[in-house]
Amino acid sequence: MIVPPGLPPQVGAAFLTRQGGVSVGPWHGLNLSASTGDDPEAVRANRTRACAGLGIDPERVSMVRQVHGDGVVVADAPVRPGLFTGDLSGWPEGDALLSRGLDVPLLVLAADCVPVLLWRADGSAVAAVHAGWRGIIGGVLEAAVAAIDGPARAAVGPAVGVCHYRVDEALRGRFARDFGPETVVGEALDLALAVKICLERAGIKRSDTHVVGRCTACEPEGFFSHRRDGAPGGRHGAVIWRRSTP
Ligand SMILES: [Zn+2]
Repeated sequence: MIVPPGLPPQVGAAFLTRQGGVSVGPWHGLNLSASTGDDPEAVRANRTRACAGLGIDPERVSMVRQVHGDGVVVADAPVRPGLFTGDLSGWPEGDALLSRGLDVPLLVLAADCVPVLLWRADGSAVAAVHAGWRGIIGGVLEAAVAAIDGPARAAVGPAVGVCHYRVDEALRGRFARDFGPETVVGEALDLALAVKICLERAGIKRSDTHVVGRCTACEPEGFFSHRRDGAPGGRHGAVIWRRSTP
């Protein structure tokens, strides 16, 4: 797992890798997604292991059904207690979660899209965001920063890098226009940089955003990558929470 630097003592956060899980086949490792075809029992086992490793209660983990939109789900209390390792499906739709409550772990899934963790500088609120190219254009980061509602810091997790993210000319043009020409490198997009620019526009200084800078497609043992492996495939997680006991 990758723990972002600079967290307040009362905030826990991690970007998980795919290592340490029980799934096999295209999901091999710590697949946390129950919606990409993996055995539900393996997903439950992986989720239980991940929570044990983090020291969090799986009953209280809150997620969203990610749809590449800009919806922020408020989870001051767990949104569906027990669902994470229980029925697995039935989460509210959204691409970001916000919590001001204690011990409500927020978890987003990705396999190339950019997981972004946000926290208020004083530790009084946290957010987790799933940001692919659609969500970045659609304003999910700005929506999450607005929901945080105060001076914030950010960590940008493992995502498909500019080394592996060639896209068509129309999308390159859109990113160059919306986020600046530096987000387009040759025929590829730099999603992490676009995220950083969005966060800056929303009020988080570039120096307050930490970019992990690891490419999911470059590291088959470390991360799932839809670009590299296609479907079906697994998803790794990113999680953040306010601790009741620092
Ligand atoms: Zn790469």
